[in-house]
Amino acid sequence: MPVHRPSRTEAESRRKAVLFCPDCDHESDIEGDWNVHDEDDRRVYDCPDCGTTITTRPRATPLLTP
Ligand SMILES: [Zn+2]
Repeated sequence: MPVHRPSRTEAESRRKAVLFCPDCDHESDIEGDWNVHDEDDRRVYDCPDCGTTITTRPRATPLLTP
C-alpha cells in the first residue's frame, strides 16, 4: 500500500464545504471551529471570532424517533 495521503478529489470535495464569515473573513470547514447550535429544527453556525451567524441549515431528519 502506498503512503496514505489525501487525494485531490477528496480535497476538492472538502473545499466545497468551506464557510466564510462575511464580517471578519474567518474561514473554516463546515465541520471546523464554528459555534454550532440547534434552534428548533435548524442548525445554526456562528462565527467563533465575532459571533455572526454564518448560515443555518435544516437539521437532518432524526433517524431515531422517541
Ligand atoms: Zn466572524
